[in-house]
Amino acid sequence: MESALTARDRVGVQDFVLLENYTSEAAFIENLRKRFKENLIYTYIGSVLVSVNPYRELEIYTKNHMERYRGVNFYEVSPHIYAVADNSYRSMRTERKDQCILISGESGAGKTEASKKILQYYAVTCPASEQVQTVKDRLLQSNPVLEAFGNAKTLRNDNSSRFGKYMDIQFDFKGAPVGGHIINYLLEKSRVVHQNHGERNFHIFYQLIEGGEEDLLRRLGLERNPQQYQYLVKVSISTCEAKKDCRKSKFMQVLMNLIYIVAGLTDCVSVLSILSLSLSPSCVCFLQQLMSPLNLEQASSARDALSKAVYGRTFTWLVNKINLLENKDYLRKYTGNGRYNQLICTNTTHLKFTAFIVFCSFEQFCINYCNEKLQQLFIELTLKSEQEEYESEGITWEPVQYFNNKIICDLVEEKFKGIISILDEECLRPGDASDFTFLEKLEDTVGGHPHFVTHKLADGKTRKVMGRDEFRLLHYAGEVNYNVNGFLDKNNDLLFRNLKEVSLFSAQNYIISILLCDVAATQFKASLAKLMEILMSKEPSYIRCIKPNDSKQSGRFDEVLIRHQVKYLGLMENLRVRRAGFAYRRRYEVFLQRYKSLCPDTWPNWQGKLADGVAILVKHLGYKPEEYKLGRSKIFIRFPKTLFATEDALET
Ligand code: ATP
Ligand code: MG
Repeated sequence: MESALTARDRVGVQDFVLLENYTSEAAFIENLRKRFKENLIYTYIGSVLVSVNPYRELEIYTKNHMERYRGVNFYEVSPHIYAVADNSYRSMRTERKDQCILISGESGAGKTEASKKILQYYAVTCPASEQVQTVKDRLLQSNPVLEAFGNAKTLRNDNSSRFGKYMDIQFDFKGAPVGGHIINYLLEKSRVVHQNHGERNFHIFYQLIEGGEEDLLRRLGLERNPQQYQYLVKVSISTCEAKKDCRKSKFMQVLMNLIYIVAGLTDCVSVLSILSLSLSPSCVCFLQQLMSPLNLEQASSARDALSKAVYGRTFTWLVNKINLLENKDYLRKYTGNGRYNQLICTNTTHLKFTAFIVFCSFEQFCINYCNEKLQQLFIELTLKSEQEEYESEGITWEPVQYFNNKIICDLVEEKFKGIISILDEECLRPGDASDFTFLEKLEDTVGGHPHFVTHKLADGKTRKVMGRDEFRLLHYAGEVNYNVNGFLDKNNDLLFRNLKEVSLFSAQNYIISILLCDVAATQFKASLAKLMEILMSKEPSYIRCIKPNDSKQSGRFDEVLIRHQVKYLGLMENLRVRRAGFAYRRRYEVFLQRYKSLCPDTWPNWQGKLADGVAILVKHLGYKPEEYKLGRSKIFIRFPKTLFATEDALET
């Protein structure tokens, strides 16, 4: 039999806190590599789960696996996403605390797949009565519908989520899921009218055109050929992709039926037909006539603005519709029945950061701001909870230095002098305000900030590598250059407001008028604030997803790419914090249960208090006083090697 030590050599350690050389990034990456090679994609940093996308189907998500993790202590089984799901669910039930699971990582790292795995786990393992089954089904089935409308093929990911998602599941006192709610934010609307080379528009368009029933297409006046449509024409679609769209489309229709939104789909597809109408040249003429001062270029851009807005609202409407359906039964049955605990999966699209110089626009600025806020939350909550645990257990510890990105959050959002405030101010200023004057204002106000850079140097000279319409932010995850062109317009959405009046006037369609009625103010900051507030009130679990290579290939471990992600996800800092005090902690009963057999003189006949039992056991095991501390309910072990020795003693 392989000894514990050689097994560790081959497959690495399953928790980074057990690494001897825990400050070494090289040792960290080597451990990831060893495990990745053995298809062990999950590793812990304490209670944080690090996951590396395998880009292949692994046999680790079966019902048997789910059963193995059900109700089992975190550390007793190998790391798995089911352990995180189960742990969070159990804390919710036993401690009656609302939970959240935060999933982050860059595009293609596996966030969406992770959230699906968690939902599947609950669908299989949570108790259910007949009526609850429908809630479970809907939660699972709303996913493909949302993906059709909100996901698209990009260079980084064939099924990239182009929106942020936050899902809230309510459980009753028996632990059965009784309702769900989805909040979406930051849909990448610009994709409707423009896609980069090699990327596609949202899946739904192709699904509709490749797989929509003849009758439906005829009613909508749509043709089977995507080349007909200006917004779809730029992408050449392989036969294989077309077949997949067609298959998915059939599947979608079945699903839509299932979640009772067929009526909604029809409405929504009228929305889509208006979109397709607006793609035609006649629409441009129409706009030219309607808003007489518009030339061809202006009319086209007005058309684009309208299409984006309509699609954005369609998506929001769809999400609302799903929410209503998921909640209506549950509200009827359960209102007044006491409190519900919630469990949330948040799926964030991580910083659109790239090593090459790519100029990011206003949308990316918002996304990156969102990621700064989430990182801030991660820092606060992981450090806070660590500190609180020592406090509640009565243990003293030495705090760790870490980079706090609050300074960057402030740079963006501070009242009166943050970037967003300055942008708002410029938007409201009458007269000659422009993207350029906005940049000048920025230079005057935040020019000296250590995380803000423009072409202007302090001594009045200019930085040659930067253009005059750019600024650079030193985000926690890396430097990003932003081009200010369009910042004012996008923040303002003025163009859209004009158009809205026109469309309201002519829109016969009920949904469209509702969609356009709801005012599109600077929703973003408010919804972000709401998200943070909700997340702050929950007990968090973290899943940090890593993408192993840029070519969507299984088995390829690109060290440079991985090192970069380890850095910006703050994993080394996370590990240091976790190790600063005590590498390992276990509840007394768990510790005793596992190791008491090593002290046969005392057990099995011993009957005293748990804490006394642990004291006898560690004395028997020869732990030195500096190696451990006994808290109120847990033993804290300072060095991994102490626990290794004890584990090894079990093997022999
Ligand atoms: P984005 O930010 O672009 O939405 P993402 O982090 O949500 O990216 P996913 O769509 O979850 O990325 O994953 C990309 C692809 O990687 C999946 O379509 C799938 O092929 C593969 N993948 C991810 N996780 C796993 C897994 N656990 N097992 C097998 N394949 C996976
Ligand atoms: Mg995704």
